[in-house]
This record gives sequence, C-alpha cells and structure tokens, in this order.
Amino acid sequence: MSDAYPNVQLHIDGVWRDAEGGRRIPVINPATEEEIGSVAHCSRADLDAALEATERGFATWSKVSAFERSKLMRKAADLLRERADSIARLMTLEQGKPLVEARMETLAAADIIDWFAEEARRAYGRVIPARAPGVYQLVIKEPVGPVAAFTPWNFPINQVVRKLCGALAAGCSIIVKAPEETPASPAELIRAFVDVGIPAGVIGLVYGVPAEVSEYLIPHPTIRKITFTGSTPVGKRLAALAGEHMKRATMELGGHSPVIVFDDADVTAAAKQIATAKFRNAGQVCVSPTRYLIQENVYEEFVDAFVTVAKAVKVGNGLEAGTTMGPLANERRIPAMEALIADARQKGAEVATGGTRIGNKGYFFEPTVVTGVTREMRMMNEEPFGPLAMMLPFSDFEEAVTEANRLPYGLASYAYTRSAKTAQQVAHRVQAGMMTINHLGLALPEVPFGGIKDSGYGSEGGSEAIEAYLNPKFVSQAGI
Ligand code: NAD
Repeated sequence: MSDAYPNVQLHIDGVWRDAEGGRRIPVINPATEEEIGSVAHCSRADLDAALEATERGFATWSKVSAFERSKLMRKAADLLRERADSIARLMTLEQGKPLVEARMETLAAADIIDWFAEEARRAYGRVIPARAPGVYQLVIKEPVGPVAAFTPWNFPINQVVRKLCGALAAGCSIIVKAPEETPASPAELIRAFVDVGIPAGVIGLVYGVPAEVSEYLIPHPTIRKITFTGSTPVGKRLAALAGEHMKRATMELGGHSPVIVFDDADVTAAAKQIATAKFRNAGQVCVSPTRYLIQENVYEEFVDAFVTVAKAVKVGNGLEAGTTMGPLANERRIPAMEALIADARQKGAEVATGGTRIGNKGYFFEPTVVTGVTREMRMMNEEPFGPLAMMLPFSDFEEAVTEANRLPYGLASYAYTRSAKTAQQVAHRVQAGMMTINHLGLALPEVPFGGIKDSGYGSEGGSEAIEAYLNPKFVSQAGI
C-alpha cells in the first residue's frame, strides 16, 4: 500500500471497481480542509449487483465450516496488524484523530476479529430432554442470511469490524455501507479479508447517498438483517423500515452519558481519568462522558482538576507528534458546538475553559468545560458529540440518579465511589446499557456493547453479538 491517499472504490462480487457511471465525491482532510481524494458513489445498478453477489456469497459462506471461517478470519486479523501503520495514517488523514488513536483502533479491530473468529467455533446449539423415549429435541443455530450494515465516520474501522465479524462468524454474507466522509480506512479493513481469500460476494462494500442506499437495501427481500450505528433520529427511521419489512435489526444509537462522582471517591484521580476520556476522538464518541454530576462538597475540587486536564490537551493535526486531540471530523460539527455553547451562555452558563473554534483553517475546537448549567439548556438534552463537558453539582444519591435517568438516552454511564454499597446501588439504578465504576472498562470485544431506551437495542460485543446474526431452529426427531 502506498502512503498516498487512494481513490476509494466499491467492492462488489469479489472485484474492486468504480461506480457504474463513474460518479465520485471528494474526501476532505478535516485538519487542513484540503481535498485529499475521492470515493466512488454507487448507483442503483451497483446496489443490484451487490445484492445479487451477496445472495451467492451467502450460499457459499454458510456452507463453509465454522472451523474454516475462523481460520480465514484470523488470517485477516494478522494482515490488518501488519498493515496497521499505513492504515492508521489514512484514518488520521480522513477523520482527524491523532495517529496513536488511529493505530489503536486498527489494532483493536484485529483483536475483535480474533475474538469473533473464536466465537464462530463456539456458536453452540443445544439438546433439550424430550418427553417421549427415542425423541431428540435439537436447537440448531443457523445464520440469518445476508446482512446490510450502515456505519458512521467517528470510528471508521471499529464501527464496521464489529458488524462484519458478527456476520462472518455466524456464516452470513454482508453488504457494508461505509461512511463517505472516512472511506479509505474501512476499505482497508475489508481489503484484509479480500487479500486472505474471502470468497466473492461474502463481503460487499458500497458508498453512496445514505438514505438512498438504506431505503433500497432494507426492504429488499435478499436482506435478512439490518445493523446501524449513528444518530437516534436516523436509527428510528431505519428501525421503522426494518419493522415494516420484518427484518431483524441491531441499533447502536446516540447517548448523553452521565458520570456520577460521589464525595467518597478519589476525586482528583477520577477527574484526570474521565477528562482524558472526554477528549478522546474530540468527544465524537457515542459513549463519551458528557453530563458530569458531582457531589456538591467535592464539586470545586473535581472541576479544577478537570479544567487543568482540559487546558493541557494539545489540539492539532493528528499526524503531528504530541497531538492529543485532532479537529472535529467535519465542518458541520463546528456550528453544532457553537450553537450549544451560545444557547447555554444565553441561559446563564459559564464557560470555565474553551468554548470557541481554533483558527479558521481546519475544524479545530477548544476542549470546553461549562459550569452553571441547567436542565433547560440544549446541551443538557442533546447529544453534543464534541469536546464539551457539562458540570452539575448534586446533593444526594437520589438527585444524581434522577438526573442520570432524566433523558431518553441509555447507552453508557460512569460512576466513582469508594463505597461498595453505593457502587452496587448506582449500577442497579442507572438506566443504561453499560456502566463502568472507578475505571474505564467499556468496549472490549468480549463484553456486551449496546444501549437501551432511545440509545437502541442489541449488542455489538460479547456472546450476544454473534447471536444477533443467528436464528435458532428447533428440530424434533423421533426414531422410525
Ligand atoms: P446524521 O444523523 O446525518 O448521520 C449519522 C450517521 O448516519 C452517518 O454515518 C450517516 O451517513 C448515517 N445516515 C444518515 N442518514 C442515513 C440514512 N437515511 N440511512 C442510512 N444511514 C444514514 O448525523 P451526522 O452529522 O453525520 O452526525 C451527527 C450526529 O450523529 C451526532 O450528533 C451523533 O448523535 C450521531 N452519531 C452517532 C454515532 C455513534 O457512534 N452512535 C456516530 C456518528 C454520528
């Protein structure tokens, strides 16, 4: 692979190719605002070709033994590791995140592939004791069929690899509609599978107008399962479409994660840890800690320590050594941040640090901490999806839990306390798909990853993740 940014192609029926009609759209480097390349934009004819190929791919792949599927997946993981440095560079160029984060994402993807490859070999069915002699009651796990996956730009590889590997491990074929804004790094993930010999049609890769692609693929009879990561409004639209056509769906949507810091915690250590987590990927993370609920007698200590970390963040081009936060990934995130901050200021909030765009070239934004927030402010209700932290004091446990559960979201949640009792109660009471207490413990391949309420349904990690791509078939058999 050369170091230059490639012109990204579709992958259909085992072939890398341009869109029919040759349509392409530019890819922008968010750190420089320069056009660095382009990506093929699929037409309806390309989608039809991808659908025909995925049907054949499913027929082939579902007959490959779990043992062989697993071996091939592990080879792809090894190839991805070998190529991690050059792939990470592409990701930083197109998405903006620091090179070290891009490299970690690529290497983590290889671990995810390995883990799902092992799950492939352990997708057990079961035997249920029968009521009559000579009867065998069997539960057999069968792949659901061809999958359509829709993934966003914040983690260009990670968001694809979980869906791709769940499908492949289960014996499904998959068409990935990868993000148009960050297309090259997910294409390299798929190239690793192609280069180790995944049969034609098993993986399709397309880019296009997202709504046009989803509105065509989801109702199509070939597609049996939908998986989407992105915003809640789009997720609701796609889930409704999936429901209309009785397709299984996994929805990994937005969040507005509460962090509850009790006064018996190691407050300074907590502030350092969770502030660093806030500014990872410039806050463009579905599980990003966002509403900081701090017990009032340690509020100032926490905010001071947090602001110190925020001020030390080195914002810059992700390719430059020492950068700890890159630009926002696209231009529209700048007015989105500005509007939330202006609204909060106008309603009486104070900006403890940050609050404005940096320079006028590249989508850089200051790490921002807002105090004096109230529940009427937009930022306390809408997912900021940027480097924005809101601080809110609370007096007792019930008040903290009520605020944590106030929003319709329920993805990640965080808590800090030295009390085993408080830890147990907070884990029980906060309505969220995930909670991590006294450390950052989310998103490993072997643990469930997903939300409840408006944050979606289904899991993209743990043994639940492969189940999403399997149908249980019951077979009851008597002797003759
Ligand atoms: P958006 O809602 O327009 O798009 C979000 C993602 O969904 C993008 O990848 C987009 O390509 C895709 N998408 C949009 N409409 C679609 C459709 N009809 N069919 C299929 N895919 C579709 O918003 P955006 O400006 O790209 O991102 C901003 C918001 O999206 C954020 O505030 C955040 O809430 C959410 N988001 C969430 C995640 C996540 O990891 N859960 C990732 C990216 C964006």
